[in-house]
Amino acid sequence: MTKLSTILPPLFLTATALLATPAWLPAAHAAAPQVRTQAPGFYRVLLGDVEITALSDGTVTIPLDTLLTNTGAAHVKGVLATHHLGTQVETSINAYLVNTGKRLVLIDTGAGASFGTHGGHLADSIRAAGYRPEDVDTVLLTHIHGDHSNGLTIDGKAVLPNAEVVVAKREADAWLDPANRTKVRPDSVHVIDEALAAFAPYRQAGRVRTFDGPGEVVPGIRAVPAPGHTPGHTVYELTGGGQTMRFVGDTLHAKDVQMAEPQVTIRFDEDANAARRQREALFADAAARGIIVAAAHTPFPGLGYIERNGSAYTWAPLNYSSLR
Ligand SMILES: [Zn+2]
Repeated sequence: MTKLSTILPPLFLTATALLATPAWLPAAHAAAPQVRTQAPGFYRVLLGDVEITALSDGTVTIPLDTLLTNTGAAHVKGVLATHHLGTQVETSINAYLVNTGKRLVLIDTGAGASFGTHGGHLADSIRAAGYRPEDVDTVLLTHIHGDHSNGLTIDGKAVLPNAEVVVAKREADAWLDPANRTKVRPDSVHVIDEALAAFAPYRQAGRVRTFDGPGEVVPGIRAVPAPGHTPGHTVYELTGGGQTMRFVGDTLHAKDVQMAEPQVTIRFDEDANAARRQREALFADAAARGIIVAAAHTPFPGLGYIERNGSAYTWAPLNYSSLR
């Protein structure tokens, strides 16, 4: 009889010997070190011919029981508990990159250096998604608050060096005029100081454009004024493949509370009553039209439908797609 070792390669014999190890011997595997990093911070969807990439700038943990207004801290704590959350809620900071086929448009820029290492990951996420920050043609801002516009600039340098920054005139007038420091409420003065720094390289290069009222701001993307959270807060809408997506900025902060109770506001609202009306109108409209909502602070990627549930609403995350 031919010896087995003459017809089988030695590696095969080694593998066979390992498989034959008696079951009563202890496992020989070393403990695998835990990795503890998240998946790359992007998620892609298609709307007809338009490619939308959700980008994570990071997460920031905020005390919703003390930040939410027109409600009570104990009530908020109870509602959050029903969603398996404590009062300190890790909150996503999302931006969106829209490739229309002709333009590469970034909607909001994340927090830059404002939140230390919790935010400021926008450029990494752009690169992970297969683009470069210098590829971005246009930045559309929903509003000028640090976690949406401070990512324009890091260490005084433009993060999106070839982009034109487009923002509502009312918003630019409110936050880019140093004279307004004495007119805004005390806890909003820092917004002006941060905005002046974030916009500086773009203003020096003559690359800031403002617009007034509703209308198309870049081909295929329409601005809809939604003042309240800030004076010039704006949502953006695009349509493709028979579907509509609306980028809602800070119309919604805390879905686990505000979907069921849209009247709940947040301290960051400049005009809380107007912000509440914007949210109620958005929910009713999004539910009736079946549009996809892209929300800056809803858990990443922040893409979903709003469904009416009696007098309340629920958030239905977009179905996962591998795009294959
Ligand atoms: Zn805001």
